[in-house]
Amino acid sequence: MLQLYDSFARIKKDFKPYNKSNVLLYVCGITPNNATHLGHAFTYVMFDALIRFLKYKDFGVTYVQNATDVNDGDDVIKQAKETGKTWTEIAQFWIEHFQKQMDALNVMRPDKYLLASEFIDRIVSINEKLITKGFAYEKNGNIYFDISKFKDYGALSKYGNEQMLMISTERGNDPKDPNKKNPLDFVLWIKDDSEPNWKSPWGNGRPGWHIECSAMIESTLGEQIDIHGGGRDLIFPHHESERAQTESFTGKKPIVQHWMHTGMVMYEGEKMSKSLGNLVLVEDLLKQYSPSAIRWLLLSHHYRHPWEYEEEELKNCEQKLQVLGSKLQEKTSGDWKTIERYLEDDFNTPEVLRYLQTECAGETLKKGLELLGFEIKN
Ligand code: ZN
Repeated sequence: MLQLYDSFARIKKDFKPYNKSNVLLYVCGITPNNATHLGHAFTYVMFDALIRFLKYKDFGVTYVQNATDVNDGDDVIKQAKETGKTWTEIAQFWIEHFQKQMDALNVMRPDKYLLASEFIDRIVSINEKLITKGFAYEKNGNIYFDISKFKDYGALSKYGNEQMLMISTERGNDPKDPNKKNPLDFVLWIKDDSEPNWKSPWGNGRPGWHIECSAMIESTLGEQIDIHGGGRDLIFPHHESERAQTESFTGKKPIVQHWMHTGMVMYEGEKMSKSLGNLVLVEDLLKQYSPSAIRWLLLSHHYRHPWEYEEEELKNCEQKLQVLGSKLQEKTSGDWKTIERYLEDDFNTPEVLRYLQTECAGETLKKGLELLGFEIKN
């Protein structure tokens, strides 16, 4: 039986999708305003490998991913202003860049790749519903989610109010916004007459980031899904808020059976992030290392654990793969059931790679590498 950890329950749970022939899987995508780094790759390679394993286990999968091309912040708009390009040109440029890096790493494209800007109508109608049901309120053209109406706010992250306030403020929430009833209330719609903006019953504006994912999931997969993924830093406030909104407007729970979060990739002692400037870009690594070596490095870390990138480790991966290449021609050794057992235990790829490297040769090795998406060159 496949067991996957659920960040909400904080335990490994049996994987029992609503419909075995159509596992509903959503992974939060990129904000298309910067180059793809190793932290991005860790998340998307991991889910790619997981999907390959689910399909091997005879599950059908619908995999949806998005790009946050517009939101209440100015991530893409700012770059457009600086470069004289349109915001859609900026978003398209970085989405193509991201897809090129993912293709190079042999990551399969999602079944649906969504742009938040294509779901504005649905976002507006969800906002109206939240207001009608008393979970949201309008003030001066902005719409806020009223967290006092959702008693469970904080149940996913397990953070107390003080911690939620600290983290959301770090991430750009303005606790002193005079329009708010509670400093933790978050934006569902923000009034803005500058470009780009969309019409709404409350005037021109743009949607909040969290409501976008709620709308895209509900519109394409439904009200309750099997797996929702993303980096660990998305648990709060993004997924916490998604959960509050979706449960409130659908009246159903749980909205997700397995919340799966990937650990942060660190570099030089800190989380790899654009703001800290400590990015290791996938395009740079691909100039020096094979896609399989990068894939091996990523899958040799358990998806839930944070880890620190060191180039020496990537060099070792390249060497290991060369040795393994020669072992493909040898007499078959290794036990396939052992490989499956590791993967069924919360997708323990590090144990599988260790086992492939130390115990396997011939057909078992080939099958194991193929299962995890390695491109095999004889
Ligand atoms: Zn999201």
